[in-house]
Amino acid sequence: MTDQFKKEIDSALELINSYNNIYICSHIQPDGDSLGSIMALAMAIKKLKNKANINVIKVDDIPSVFDFLPNIDIIKEQDLSQEVELFIALDSSDKERLGIGAEFLCKAKAVINIDHHITNENFGDVNIVLPSSGSTCEIVYKLIKYMGIEMDKDIATCLYTGINTDTGRFMYSNTTYETHIIAAELIKTGIDTSDINISIYQNRTIERTRLLLESLNQLELYEDGKIGLVVVTQDMLEKTGAGMEDTEGIISFVMDINTIEAACLLKEVSNKEIKVSLRSKKYVNVSKIATKFGGGGHVRAAGFTIIGEQIDTAKEMILKEIFKNIR
Ligand code: 5GP
Ligand code: MN
Repeated sequence: MTDQFKKEIDSALELINSYNNIYICSHIQPDGDSLGSIMALAMAIKKLKNKANINVIKVDDIPSVFDFLPNIDIIKEQDLSQEVELFIALDSSDKERLGIGAEFLCKAKAVINIDHHITNENFGDVNIVLPSSGSTCEIVYKLIKYMGIEMDKDIATCLYTGINTDTGRFMYSNTTYETHIIAAELIKTGIDTSDINISIYQNRTIERTRLLLESLNQLELYEDGKIGLVVVTQDMLEKTGAGMEDTEGIISFVMDINTIEAACLLKEVSNKEIKVSLRSKKYVNVSKIATKFGGGGHVRAAGFTIIGEQIDTAKEMILKEIFKNIR
C-alpha cells in the first residue's frame, strides 16, 4: 500500500466517521463490480457504524443474474428530499455515469470517489482511484481490511462476484497476483464459489442464447479479421424475445476468435441512440477511442453512447477510428 493510498483512505475514514447520512452509489447499466462494490461497502460501513443511516441508491434496473447477491434489495430508489451528508461513488469514472445519483452527489457536503477506471475524472473531495486494480471490488477489499472491519460471507460473496466478473473470470490482463491473493482470502471465509459461478455463468436464458446466436450470425470482420463487429438491433430483440441487458457477454465471443485484436458491439437502444462496447486483446487502446466519443473505460475494455445517429452511420464513425489504431 503506497503512502498516497493510505493518506486517501485515512481521509475517507475521517469523512465516514464524521457523517451519519451516507449515500452509496455506482454507475447506470450496473455490472457485477458496480453492484458488488456498493453492497460490500454498505455492509462494511454498517458494521463499523451500526447507527449510521446508509442508503444505497438504485440508479438503473439490476440485471436478474445478480439476484443471488445477498441483501441485493438494499439497493433502492432513494428520496432526493432527504439530507445527504456524505456521498460515496464507486466504479464510476465520471458524475454523468451516476445517472440520478449525480443529483444526490450535488447535495452532499462531501464526496468520496472510489474507482479503477483510467479515465476517472477525480470528481471527489477524496479520490481513491487505482487504475492498476482489476476491479473496484479489490479496492473495497483493501479499504475494509485497512479499516479493520471483519470480513464475512455476505461481503465476501459481493466482492468475489465483482472481482470475478470484472477480470473476465480471472482471465483478462487486469488480473494480477494480488487479484488472486484477495480472491483466496475471500474464499477462505467459506463462500460457495461454485454456486456463485453457476449463478453468473451457467444461467443463460433461452432468449439470451437466441440473441447470442442471432447477433454472432451477422458478425462482420474487417482488416484481415483483426476487427470484429456485431450489432444488436431492436428488431433482433423482438425476434428473439430478449432484452437489451441480454447483450452482456456477446462481445467476449467475438474476442475469442483467433484473428481478432479489437471487437465492437453496437446496441440500438433506440433509433437515434447507439450504445457501443469496445474490447481489445493486445495493443489497441480502446479507452482512447471511447474518450474521443465522450465515453471512457479501460485500455482493454471501454464504452460510449452515440446520440443522434442511426446505427449504420454510428458504425462507419467507429470503424474509422478503430482502423486508425490497427497495425
Ligand atoms: P461495457 O462495454 O461493458 O459497457 O463497458 C466496458 C467498460 O467501459 C466499463 O468499465 C465501463 O465502465 C466503461 N464504459 C462503458 N460505457 C461507458 C460510457 O458511456 N462512459 C464511460 N465513461 N465509461 C463507459
Ligand atoms: Mn469495474
